[in-house]
Amino acid sequence: MATVSNTLVVGAGMAGLTLAVALKRNGIGCEIVELREHLSEPGTGISLQGPALRALHTVGLAESCIARGFGYSFFKACDAQGNVTGTVELPRLLGPDYPATVGIMRHWVHEVLAEELARLGVAVRLGTTLTSLEQNGDGVDVALSDGTRARYDLVVGADGVNSTVRELTFGPQHEPRYTGQMNWRATVSRPPEVLGRYSYFGPTNKSGFNPISQTQMYIYALQNVPVKPRWPDEELPGRLRDLLSEFGGALARAREEVVSPEQIICRPTFSLIMPPPWHRGRVIVIGDAAHATTPQLASGASIAIEDAVVLARRLADGGGVEAVLTDFTARRYDRCRMVVQNSERLGEWEKRPGSPDDDTVNVVARSYQELAKPV
Ligand SMILES: Cc1cc2nc3c(=O)[nH]c(=O)nc-3n(C[C@H](O)[C@H](O)[C@H](O)COP(=O)(O)OP(=O)(O)OC[C@H]3O[C@@H](n4cnc5c(N)ncnc54)[C@H](O)[C@@H]3O)c2cc1C
Repeated sequence: MATVSNTLVVGAGMAGLTLAVALKRNGIGCEIVELREHLSEPGTGISLQGPALRALHTVGLAESCIARGFGYSFFKACDAQGNVTGTVELPRLLGPDYPATVGIMRHWVHEVLAEELARLGVAVRLGTTLTSLEQNGDGVDVALSDGTRARYDLVVGADGVNSTVRELTFGPQHEPRYTGQMNWRATVSRPPEVLGRYSYFGPTNKSGFNPISQTQMYIYALQNVPVKPRWPDEELPGRLRDLLSEFGGALARAREEVVSPEQIICRPTFSLIMPPPWHRGRVIVIGDAAHATTPQLASGASIAIEDAVVLARRLADGGGVEAVLTDFTARRYDRCRMVVQNSERLGEWEKRPGSPDDDTVNVVARSYQELAKPV
């Protein structure tokens, strides 16, 4: 049986919420704190690829995500004017009754997970973080920002790319690196014929759109920006429209709908892969806190959610904490490093169009083959 019976999860993103659900389902006590006052930042859509759906299925939540999003199973490559140049069937990792991928508003994923957590009797303590942690013997003494103190068998930092738990535990040496691109998403209406993912390859940029509901889709784009910019929100619609101006077809029509900063998320791309171990004593980091990826393979959420279910399963299998946490990282490291490094290579080729060593098609195919393997 598990030598861990009470856990503090720091961060109620996809990794933290999934972990809390999976721990409770395995009979392991768990509390969860989240810095934000709300469960999810207002945002736009996200693609949950096959590995994410498969991991969510193990905690019984894939169907709810599919129901609140838009499932699809093909990808179409297009030229800049939207003429289709190729169609790829995406693998259905959960079998023929499930879509390969689901596009969904990010807040819906958080809500599905939080509803399940509430059903299991775990409340997310919003607007709360940890202010200190100290490892003493077989436990971790934690002080929280609400003034309370408690002792846990295990603390899990699922607090994202700028993880406080990582910094408090390992020091500042594992800083995420800006990779020279800005990642754009904008929510617009979905024309009825958009039933899968479309990518437009323009003379200078790649962009496209994914369905996320019966009425909505999101536009995505990556922009090469060597020095991380600070753009005021009110500039975002104009900047995105400029970026999309080289495209025709359905993307040009969707571009006309980009009018308000509230529709848009624009974030710098970061890359980070922590070398093992991902734990020190009884504190471990998972998800973006341990491995943040640039978006080329759209798999950051997949590997974060997978971390959560694998860690919960490994803890439930029992054994000494040191051995369990070492084994967890060993199971996860190569797969997460592959996603981070291959995504970054793809980004490098995007920044140097026409590179003689550009091997995008093979790297994408090999990465998805690897990710299709069960965890
Ligand atoms: C614009 C954009 C688009 C993306 N699109 C996709 C996509 O389509 N598909 C995909 O697979 N991935 C995508 N990703 C990546 C994906 O969002 C991340 O990999 C995933 O969210 C990681 O989950 P996480 O739970 O580890 O971290 P996060 O989602 O960052 O969650 C961390 C949580 O911890 C909280 N927190 C932070 N600090 C503290 C603290 N000190 N105390 C308490 N709580 C704290 C945060 O508020 C947050 O709620 C995208 C990323 C971006 C930026």
